Amino acid sequence: MGQTRRGFIRMAAGLGAAASAAPLLELGRRLGAEEPAPRKLGFALVGLGKLAGEQIAPAFKNSRLCRLAGLVSGHPDKARQWAQQYGVAEKNIYDYQTFDRIKDNPDVDVVYVVLPNSMHAEYTVRAAKAGKHVLCEKPMAISVKECDDMIAACQAANRKLAIGYRLHFEPYNLEMMRLAREKVFGAVKLIEASAGFRIGDPTQWRLNKALSGGGSLMDIGIYALQAARYISGAEPVAVSAEATVTDPVKFKGADESILFHLKFPDGILATCTSSYATGLSRYWAGAEQGWFELSPALYYHGIHGRVSAQDGPKDMQFPDIDQFAAEMDDFADCILKGRASKVAGEEGRRDLKIMMAIYEAAATGKTITL
Ligand code: NAD
Repeated sequence: MGQTRRGFIRMAAGLGAAASAAPLLELGRRLGAEEPAPRKLGFALVGLGKLAGEQIAPAFKNSRLCRLAGLVSGHPDKARQWAQQYGVAEKNIYDYQTFDRIKDNPDVDVVYVVLPNSMHAEYTVRAAKAGKHVLCEKPMAISVKECDDMIAACQAANRKLAIGYRLHFEPYNLEMMRLAREKVFGAVKLIEASAGFRIGDPTQWRLNKALSGGGSLMDIGIYALQAARYISGAEPVAVSAEATVTDPVKFKGADESILFHLKFPDGILATCTSSYATGLSRYWAGAEQGWFELSPALYYHGIHGRVSAQDGPKDMQFPDIDQFAAEMDDFADCILKGRASKVAGEEGRRDLKIMMAIYEAAATGKTITL
């Protein structure tokens, strides 16, 4: 019966704004049917690697507004197996050569780019030219010029562009932003942010600068940079940095660990660590009357937060959510309502500009003014 009611509501809603739809919808409501479910937007994943397979594809089942509708891969067997597993029509499978034909596919509203960093710009521009909205993984690209091209292509096609900054939708990270913004402990004065993991396979694209655009900073240190920016609520005016390599064989072209300092207006300082040598996941903010912190801060699950108190630190209590479902739902909501994304292309571009300055600071030993 529930199915029939939902079918009825979908059919009535499908009549759109036509005057004849209103009595049908009213009848549906009187029959006890629920409000019409919003239309789910079709997402096509480009790049079926670890993130897409372990986090993004499974997140559609927790999404309110998005469904997995298309797959783009260089491996036809893998794509077919995913299509079966997730109920994607075979006609919605593309490879990198046939990708542009996605423009003729009304099942796909959004292209989600989950490729190595150096491929983000090309696939974002091609998706925009195919008339699709684009959600692109972080880092947005490997140069500021590429970010400009991506923003321009999406603007020209009148399509939306957002970057996969999942922590902007994660309750503990949102609480860090709120505590700072509302000055719950007074004004924030100092920030520490550390992000890292110990990287394995030395042959992977993350350690190939042509594909990654850098090393730990572009991949994981970007989280520390993001945290410093969203906790301070400001943009840095100067940056200094020091890079270190303890394994010169593994880290021939890519950076291993970088410590960087960001100076914000009003003299707020952030000290940040990015590393491929060791696990790090901690954000801390020191304010006039106390402190607040997350540790771990950026995992997919199990984030833990504390705030200072007179009788000892208190735990934050928030739900452990599916961050990818939340991120995709927000983007879908932006598209459906025509509102701006808080993680639009311009936000990704800001990080690229600062990361390039961090690399320059590390290479020259100079403080770089932004
Ligand atoms: P991955 O290596 O597991 O997957 C990359 C995919 O790209 C694979 O399917 C691979 O076949 C395909 N590919 C196409 N051309 C390639 C080439 N020339 N070289 C290598 N692979 C090629 O990587 P991943 O961990 O899934 O990362 C993909 C993107 O997602 C990266 O931009 C990364 O920064 C981002 N990422 C984001 C998060 C997050 O939390 N938001 C987490 C992990 C990765």
